[in-house]
Amino acid sequence: MDTIFSLAQGQFTLNRVPVRQQETLRAWDAADELVLDYLHQHHSNDLISSSKVLIINDQFGALSIALNKTQLSNWSDSFIAHQAVKFNCQQNNVTPVQCISSIADLEGSYDFVIIKVQKSLAQLEDQLHRLRPHLTANTVIIGCSMVKMLHSSTLALFENIIGSTKTSLAKKKARLIFSQYQPTLAVKDNPYPQSFSLDNRQWDILNHANVFSRAKLDIGCRFFMDNLPSTQKYKRIIDLGCGSGIIGMVAASLHPNAQIDFYDESYMAIASAEHNFKQYFADHQQVSFQVDDCLTSRDKESADLILNNPPFHQQNAIGDFIAMQMFKQSFKTLISGGELWVIGNSHLQYQQKLKKIFNNCESMATNNKFVILRAIKK
Ligand code: SAM
Repeated sequence: MDTIFSLAQGQFTLNRVPVRQQETLRAWDAADELVLDYLHQHHSNDLISSSKVLIINDQFGALSIALNKTQLSNWSDSFIAHQAVKFNCQQNNVTPVQCISSIADLEGSYDFVIIKVQKSLAQLEDQLHRLRPHLTANTVIIGCSMVKMLHSSTLALFENIIGSTKTSLAKKKARLIFSQYQPTLAVKDNPYPQSFSLDNRQWDILNHANVFSRAKLDIGCRFFMDNLPSTQKYKRIIDLGCGSGIIGMVAASLHPNAQIDFYDESYMAIASAEHNFKQYFADHQQVSFQVDDCLTSRDKESADLILNNPPFHQQNAIGDFIAMQMFKQSFKTLISGGELWVIGNSHLQYQQKLKKIFNNCESMATNNKFVILRAIKK
C-alpha cells in the first residue's frame, strides 16, 4: 500500500496504526488532501505557521503532520488516532503535536479549526458545542469530509451551533465545509452526555457522545449480559472493548471478589464506563479503567476471564481485523485454563477464527441473531 503522502506542504511517510503487514488501506483520504490543498492556496504558510491551530478527528495524523510547523493541537476520541499521530511524527522527524483527549476541555481560542467529519453525528454535535466557546469572529473554521458522510443533517449542525455554513464543490468524492462563527446565534444546550435506564436492573447508564449504542441497550449486549459465566472461579476479569461498561458491571455483580479491568480505545467509552461502574459499585475496590489498543500494554498471562463484544470497524474501515487482534491478544493475556467469551452476529464466523488461535471453541448460547462462544487457553 502507498505510504508516501505528497502535497504542497511536503512529502511524508504515513502509516495506519497499528502497522500491519500487507496493509491494503492508505492512512489518508481525498478529504485530507482537499483541505490541505485549500489551506495552501488560500492562506500563506507564514500565517498558518504563526497561528494557533486545532485539528479535530485526524485519523492517522495526515493533517497534523502536514501542518506541523504551527502551534497545533489534535483533539480526538481515539487513543489509536493519537498513537498514529505520535508514530507518524516520529517516523517523519517532525515536532510531536499536542494530543488532547475528547474528554478534556479545550483552552483559549483558535485561529484555525480543521474538523474531519466522521460518521457519528452525535460526536460532531458534542464537539461543535464544546468548540464554540473557543472561537472568535476571526477563526477560520473548515470541515472536510468524504461526500458519502456528508448529509444535510451534518451541515445543519454547523449552521445551528457555529453559524452560517456553505460547502465547496466536490473533488475526488470529498468536500469542504466553511462555517463562520456567529457570536449572537441562539444555540441550544449540548444534549451530551446522555443516559438510559436498564429495565431489568436499577441502573441508569450514562454515555458520552461517541460511545457505542449510546442511547439504548444494544441487543447483542443484552443477550451477552444474560448469559455471562457465573461460576466463582474467576479472579481477574477483563471487559475488552467495554463501551459504556455494562458487561463488566454485570461481571462485577456475578463475581464480587474479582478484579475487573475495563479496556477500550475510546476515551469517551472509558470515561463512561468509569462513571457507570463507580455509580453502582463504589465498594468494589479491585477495578481499573484503561485506554489501550486492545490489550497491547497488558502483561501476558494476567487474566482468567476475558469478555468481548468486538467491533467490526476501525474508523471508517469495515472488517474483522480488530476482532482478530482482540482474540490473539486475549490468548496472550490469559493464564493457562483461562477463558475468552465472545459474542458476535452468527454470520461473522468467529468460531473458526477462535479455533485457529485457541485450538478449541464451543458455542455457549445462541438466539436467532447472535452466538456466544467460549475458547479456552490450554
Ligand atoms: N462492550 C460494549 C457492549 O457490549 O455494548 C461495547 C461493544 S462495541 C461492539 C465494541 C467496542 O470496542 C467499542 O466500545 C469500541 O470503542 C471498542 N474498540 C474498537 N476498537 C478497539 C481497539 N482497537 N481496542 C480497544 N477497544 C476497541
